[in-house]
This record gives sequence, C-alpha cells and structure tokens, in this order.
Amino acid sequence: MTDLQTHFVDIILPVPIPGYFTYRVPKDWEPYVQKGIRVVVPFGSSKVYTGVVVAVHQTPPAKYQAKYLMEILDEYPLVNDFQLALINWVSAYYLCTPGEVFQAALPAGLKISSQSKIQLNPTFEEWEQLSEKEAAFCEFLKSREACTYDEAKAFLEVKNPYHHIKSLVGKSAIIVFDELKDRYAPKVVRRLRLQAAYTSKESITTLLQQLEAKPKQLAVLLTYLRWVPVSNDESLNSRGLDKKVFTKEAISESSLQSLVKNGVFEIFEQIVSRFASDNEAFIPREFDLSAAQEKAFQGVLKGFTEKEVVLLKGVTGSGKTEIYIRLIQEALNNGDQVLYLLPEIALTTQIVIRLKKIFGEQLGIYHSKFSDNERVEVWKSIAEGKYQFIVGVRSSVFLPYKNLGLIIIDEEHEQSFKQVDPAPRYHARDVAIVLAKMHQAKVLLGSATPSFESYYQAKTDKYALVELNERFGETQLPEIHLIDTKYAVKAKQMNGGFSNEMLEKLQVNLSAGKQSLLFQNRRGYSPYIQCQLCDWISQCTQCDVSLTYHAKERELRCHYCGYKESMPTRCGACGGTQLQTMGYGTEKIEEEIQLHLPEARIGRVDLDTTRSKTAFQQLIQQMQAGQLDLIVGTQMVAKGLDFDGLSFVGIFDADKLINFPDFRAHERAYQLITQVAGRAGRRDQQGEVYIQTNQPQHAIFQYILEGNYEALYEEEMVEREGYHYPPFVRLIKLIVKHAEDQLAARAATDLAHLLKSKYGHGRILGPEKPLIERIRNLYAQEILIKLEKGISLSKFKNSLRQDVEEAQSWKSFKGVQLVIDVDCN
Ligand SMILES: [Zn+2]
Ligand SMILES: [Zn+2]
Repeated sequence: MTDLQTHFVDIILPVPIPGYFTYRVPKDWEPYVQKGIRVVVPFGSSKVYTGVVVAVHQTPPAKYQAKYLMEILDEYPLVNDFQLALINWVSAYYLCTPGEVFQAALPAGLKISSQSKIQLNPTFEEWEQLSEKEAAFCEFLKSREACTYDEAKAFLEVKNPYHHIKSLVGKSAIIVFDELKDRYAPKVVRRLRLQAAYTSKESITTLLQQLEAKPKQLAVLLTYLRWVPVSNDESLNSRGLDKKVFTKEAISESSLQSLVKNGVFEIFEQIVSRFASDNEAFIPREFDLSAAQEKAFQGVLKGFTEKEVVLLKGVTGSGKTEIYIRLIQEALNNGDQVLYLLPEIALTTQIVIRLKKIFGEQLGIYHSKFSDNERVEVWKSIAEGKYQFIVGVRSSVFLPYKNLGLIIIDEEHEQSFKQVDPAPRYHARDVAIVLAKMHQAKVLLGSATPSFESYYQAKTDKYALVELNERFGETQLPEIHLIDTKYAVKAKQMNGGFSNEMLEKLQVNLSAGKQSLLFQNRRGYSPYIQCQLCDWISQCTQCDVSLTYHAKERELRCHYCGYKESMPTRCGACGGTQLQTMGYGTEKIEEEIQLHLPEARIGRVDLDTTRSKTAFQQLIQQMQAGQLDLIVGTQMVAKGLDFDGLSFVGIFDADKLINFPDFRAHERAYQLITQVAGRAGRRDQQGEVYIQTNQPQHAIFQYILEGNYEALYEEEMVEREGYHYPPFVRLIKLIVKHAEDQLAARAATDLAHLLKSKYGHGRILGPEKPLIERIRNLYAQEILIKLEKGISLSKFKNSLRQDVEEAQSWKSFKGVQLVIDVDCN
C-alpha cells in the first residue's frame, strides 16, 4: 500500500540522453517538491547532477527502479513555466534533448554536479553566519584556488556534501562553477573620498587655506573638487572618485598619500561590474528624434498594432538605436520587461555603454565573457525584478522572464545568432520570436541589411515592415568606388596587396588627419605557405586545410583545430628552402601599410589581438580618442562601431566573399560589405569606400554601389525558388562523422538510403563530402533534407527522430557521431 502513495518527480538532467528521468521523493520532502525547483540526484554509478523538476506524480517508472533525490536546492521554483515551455520547444524543434537545452540555458553556477569546482567567494565577509563546520570548510578553501567535489566530500567527512554546499551557496560564502577558466575574480577599483570632517563648505575653505603652503597637496584637493564638488548631497562624496583619475592627471602620488595619512582623504575599494559606465556621473541623456526617425518610430508602433513582429530596415548611420531607446522606455513605463539581443556584446560596447547611461540600474547585461558567478547574479536579479531590461547574447533568451513586453533583435541578419556547436543548435532570433509569442510580447528586428528570410516574411505580410532610408543629420551614405585588381596587376599598378589608388587615398587621408579602416576578413599573416620548387603547401595534420602563417609568433596554425608548429625552414616534400608566404591576412596588410605610411599609428582588430577581455575595448577607445590613424580588421569591425573621424574604408579580397560556395554567399557578401562600408563618414562628412576586386563587372557590385538591396533580393529569390532553398523550403542537415573516411561514407549512404526511400529522392540530397572533409581527424559526410511548405514540420521531425534512433542501432553506425542541424546556415 505504501508504494502507491510514494511520490515521484520527472526531472530534466543536463545530459544528451532523450527524455526526462524519474526519481523517488523521500517521504519527509513531499511537501517541498514542486515544478521548477532544482534537485540534486545520483546518476549512473558515481555521478551527481542538478536537475529541474518538470512534474510531480505517483507513477513509478516502468523500466527501472527509481532512485531517491539527494537534495532539494530551492524553496521556490528557480525555472518558471515560460522557461520550461521554451526548453521543450527548443528541444522538439531543433531535434535535441531537453537536457542539452537545459545545459545551455542554466549557468554552471546553478548546476552543482560531481564535476563542479568550488571556490571561496572573494567578496564574502559575514563569517559569523557560518556553522563551525562551514567555517572550517571556508578556511580550507581560503588556502587554494578551488576544490573539487571529491575534495569537499573528503573534507566535510560526509557521504552527501550537498547539504553543506547548498547552505554555503545560500549564504553567498562559496561559488560553484564548471571550469577553472570560469573562476570568479571581481574587478575592484580603488576610490578616494573626503573624510566626513571635510565635507562641509566651511571645513573645505579652511583646508584650502591650510594647504596654500603645500602646492602639490593643494593640487590633489583641487583635482578632487573639480570632479566631486562640495555639495549638500552626501552621496556625491561617498561615491568618491576613481583613484586612476589622479594618475592620468600626473598628480603626485606621495602628496596624495600624505593627505590620506593626515585624515583628509580615505581610500576604499569598490567592486564594479565590467560594464560600469566610464563616466563619473550618471546623466540620462535626452535627445530628440529626427523627422525621419519619428516617422519610423510611429511606423513601428503602428506595426505592433497589426503584427507580432516588425522589421525595421534602416540604412547604416540612420540612428536605429534612438528608436530602440524610445520603444524600450515605453515598454518599461508599461511595467513590461525588455530583452535586447545582440550578436556579440564585446563588439558592441559602444551601444551597451550608451544604454547603461540611459537605463542605469534597471539594465542587466548577460554576456558570454562573464564569469559564471556574474551570470548567476544576472539570473537572480531578473527573477527578483531588479533588472527589467536585459541586453544579452543568444543564451539570454533562456533567462527567467515573467512578463516580457518587447524583444529587440539588433543586427538580426547576423549569422552568429545561430549556435553551431554543441547542441542545441538554435537560432536565437527564431527562438526569441517563439519566446515573445509565449509572453504575448512584440518583436522588433533591426538591420541595415535584413536576412532574406526576414525580408521575405515582411514582403509576404507576416511581419510589418518599416524603412528608414536616410542617415541621421545631413550625412550622406558613403561613396563606393571599385578598383579592378586584374587590370592593376597588368598595368603594374599594384604594390604588394595594395593598388596605387588605394595607397594614394590612404596617404591623402592620413595627411588630412582623418582616420581609415582596412577590412580583410582573414587573420594571421598569410593563409598558407608554398614551396616555390614543387608547389607543396603546408597542411594541418588533423584537418584538410592549409596552415595559416602567423608572423609574430613565427608559427603555422590551424584555424579549425588549433594545431600549431613553428615555421619550417624546408619544404615538407622536396626539402627545398624556397618557402614563400602566399596571400594576405590582417597581419601582412598591417605590415605592408606600415611600410608605406611609416608615420601612421596603426591598430589591428582580429581574434589574435583581442583575446583578452579588454583588448577590443582599448583599441576602440584609442580609435575614438584619435590615438590611431588606421585600423586593420576582420569582420569584427563590421558591427555597430561609429567613429567620427573615420572617413575612409578600404576592402580587400571581396572576391572571396562573393565566390564562397554557398547559396547565401551573395546575400552575405552584400551584408558584410555594406556594413563595413557603412563605418565610413559621420556627421557632416561623406565617407569614401574603395573595394579591390578582380571581377568589378559582377552584378553584386552594382547593387552594392547603388545600395540596391531590393534588386539583389528579387534576383536571389528567383534562384532560391527555382533551386529549392530557404525561404521556400526548410533545411535540415545531418552530418555523419567517423575517424575513417570509408566508414563515414558507408554510414551516411545507409542513412540517406533509408531517408530517400521514406521521404522521396527529391527531398533528400547527398551524402556529400563537406567543403572541409576532415576536421580534428574526423571525416564528415553530409545529408541535406529540403522540406517544402505544407509539410508538417513537427510530424516530420518526430519521424526523423525515430529514423535517427533506428540508424544508431545499425552495425554501420558503430563509432559514428551524428549531428542534426535544423535550419542550418
Ligand atoms: Zn587542424
Ligand atoms: Zn618543395
């Protein structure tokens, strides 16, 4: 009889195994289990995971004996119903497991597991709250960077350490994280403020008189007062001033220290968020919309009354951000939450800093470069209602929103909204639209060059369309000029990678004190090296790609697997010594232009120069401050950067973008070139853009020159309809991988055979070798599924799920890795 009354819970666990897992609830805990709370459970023979309860019931699992829960982590649901519904939707739509979505959705700090690492919270102070055992454990943690689950278990001398870990996390004494790189290190600034005795006008006046004989100390005080004037508002002085200000102004450190010693100033430490505003005072900036912006703003509002999604197509420099800000303010005034999705926050710091100034404490930022602990903080702040407005990257669609009213997806055409690896391979724009539907929120998609998919939705009346075709202020769009490099080579008008025209232009621009940007979408020095005797090219040992030469490190590197070797002195085939670097990467462009313009101050922006968290921001600030004349960069410079002094953009290698073997190549080339070109010219100055190409007659350049997005769109739509590509069909890619090429081919052939027999040859293409057949020693074969409209996607996906499960039991699938990519890029 007792068995019948036993309670069970179904939970999601962060593992790539389909379905939910059922556990037994200890009798005493029954009142505390509910949907959405986290629980800790044993899994397999020795593992421990945190899962989320999705159902409470009394049905024991049919196929296995349910194990008991080990610990309940939450009093109230941590994951709300919207989130659970979204996790389900993503797993069904993108053909992955709920566990994989759960893994992507929750920061590691919320998922204690047997793989977790534990550190002492560096900002923890309330030791008196701890029990004796807890305090001892924290003392133990003090002496090390972090400890593992097993070490915690051994130290605490208990079988199940979760009870203690939970309690310590609850008291903010410790931080749980996944990998050592996620270890939390708060950013601390040292600030200076006047001691209480010197905050009144009278005391300051006296002090100023006293310091007259000590000019250096007086300078310190005057500098402070310049930034923090004497005021009745006490908070002004208590916020103090960043000590760095004094270093910048070349103030004597010893005089400052004397004032501290004499009790005039005190120095204190403050933990700051990485995105704290650079300016000292928080000044909400008022602004007026231009007539065109106002019209677009009204258009968006009207669009929202008719459709769920509005596409705002506004040329570069038209001031879409101001319209976003107005919409965000309205939504917040209505008491709604707002999500602002960006493709990559590190690359858009200018916008984030601006939003932070306007929205202050209401704004939370969710970012891939944040440590786990910071992400947990953001999560909690949203759940508690502290943040009403989130700016974030793709994973921020999974945060605990309660009442979203508006989602803005900026640069909606960006490929990086789609996660490539690992599963869930979701497209954040598409997921955000589903999320908005759940909340009955509105979606604004913004771009100068919308994805053709979104534009198609607007053209067919699914989305409302609002256009903003003039730049803000008097600025005109840049003038674009093509340089025929084929001709230039023949006419001996090339100088290394540069045409004479490009060089002259750069020289003139530099002499005029204006800034330039050179775009080359390849990092490193040269994409490959070649033997001049036998044509041998150095290849990666694990992938079928050439190795890129990096001059600074004198290394050859694989950009796919990270393999590196030092630059060889002899050919790998004939042993000859005539090895030559071939082609151009950003490093080589930088080197050549420095030779031509020795006096120019040049910065390079690519993955290699921006690995540290602040490097990108520093380069941007230098450019803004006019400390650089020229930037050489990859597509990192294409997004959302505005420099008032930047008047010229040079584009190299446009041909590579256009000729890339992909049905989206022209769309992407148009987007990227237009976005990069759009960096030129602001305020009253028209910018200029030179594009080097050996096929200037290509139709796409005509469209780029005219800014004729519409014509390219129409032309491409005809092709896509004719050849069955999105938006006319849905694509699902199956990628079969194996360490041996023949076994990959065999498995893929078998799978394609099954799919063709079930769904028809017209819908199933391949298997085919991908562009790069082997990466990290795994050979790949791809099968492409094309689904025309009218087919029920969910039915098809259910059926496909079964096919894939069946295939995985075949002999030919032994050792095979299978990747399913829905709406693949
Ligand atoms: Zn490689
Ligand atoms: Zn050779």
